[in-house]
Amino acid sequence: MTRTFTIVLVAAVVAGMSAQTTITPPKNSYSLADDVKLGRDAAKDVEKQMPVLHDDEVTDYVRGVGDRLATAIPIDFSHPEFQYTFKVVDVKDINAFALPGGPMYVHRGIIEAAASEGELAGVMAHEMSHVALRHGTAQMSKASKFGFGQLLGAVAGIAVGGAAGEAIIDATNFGLNATFLRFSRDYEKQADLLGVQIMATAGYDPRDLAHMFQTIEKEGGDRPPQWLSDHPNPGNRVQYINEEADHLQITNPIRVTDAFTNVQAHLKTLPPAPTLAELAKRRKQQQPQR
Ligand SMILES: [Zn+2]
Repeated sequence: MTRTFTIVLVAAVVAGMSAQTTITPPKNSYSLADDVKLGRDAAKDVEKQMPVLHDDEVTDYVRGVGDRLATAIPIDFSHPEFQYTFKVVDVKDINAFALPGGPMYVHRGIIEAAASEGELAGVMAHEMSHVALRHGTAQMSKASKFGFGQLLGAVAGIAVGGAAGEAIIDATNFGLNATFLRFSRDYEKQADLLGVQIMATAGYDPRDLAHMFQTIEKEGGDRPPQWLSDHPNPGNRVQYINEEADHLQITNPIRVTDAFTNVQAHLKTLPPAPTLAELAKRRKQQQPQR
C-alpha cells in the first residue's frame, strides 16, 4: 500500500467517524439582547398564566438534566448572553417549551410520560436547540411588519399553546393565529440534529430522542399531544435522528437513573396535575361576567 493511499484512507475513516451534520442557523435580524428581553418578558406572562410546580425534588432534578445539556451546546451556538433556566409546570398535558434566550418550561405530564431520563433529556435538548439556533427571532425576522411589543404576547401565547395559550393571545389583542410562531419543518429538523449532538456530548444516547417521539405518539389517543403538533415531523424523523446518532461517539450513555425513577415515584404522591383545558375552565368560572 502506498503512503498516500494510507493517508487518504485514514482521513476518510476519521471523516466518517465525525461526520456529524453541519448546522447553519437561519438568518436573524434581531440582536442576542432582543432574544433575551423577549424571552424574559414572555416568561413573566407565562408564569402569570401557568401554575409553576414548587417542589424542590422535581425542580432540582429537571434543572440538573438541563444544566448538563446546556454545558454541551457546541461553542458556535453557545451565546454567553443566554441563560438557560428550567421550571416545571404543574399540568398534565404532554408538553415542554422554551422561550428565546433560555427560559424553559417542562410540563409535569411529559416527565410522567417519559420512559427514561434519556427520553426527557431528548425533549429538553430539542427545545434548547431551538433557543440556541434562535429560531423564535429568526421566524419573526420574516414578519418584521409586526411591532416588538406585539410579538412578545404572541411568543408567550404560542409557546404555551392550547387553551391557556389562546387566553394569552386574546389578552394582548393580538390578531395572529397560533401557527405564526410554530416552527417550520426545516427548523424542526435543525433542532432534532443539534439536539442529537448536544445529547451525545452530554452523555445521553440520542436514540432516546427518536424513541421519545414514539413514546409520546402512543400517549396521544385520538388527539396528538401538544408537543407533537407544535414540533411537527419533518419526515423520516426517527430515521435521521438514529443516523445522526450513528456518526457520534456515545459510550455508556445515561438512560434510566435512580434520580429519574425517584422523581417519577415522587410525582405519583402529589395531587394529580390538572389539564390545560381544566385550568382554562376553572379560570373562566372565576372571572366576573363581562
Ligand atoms: Zn421543535
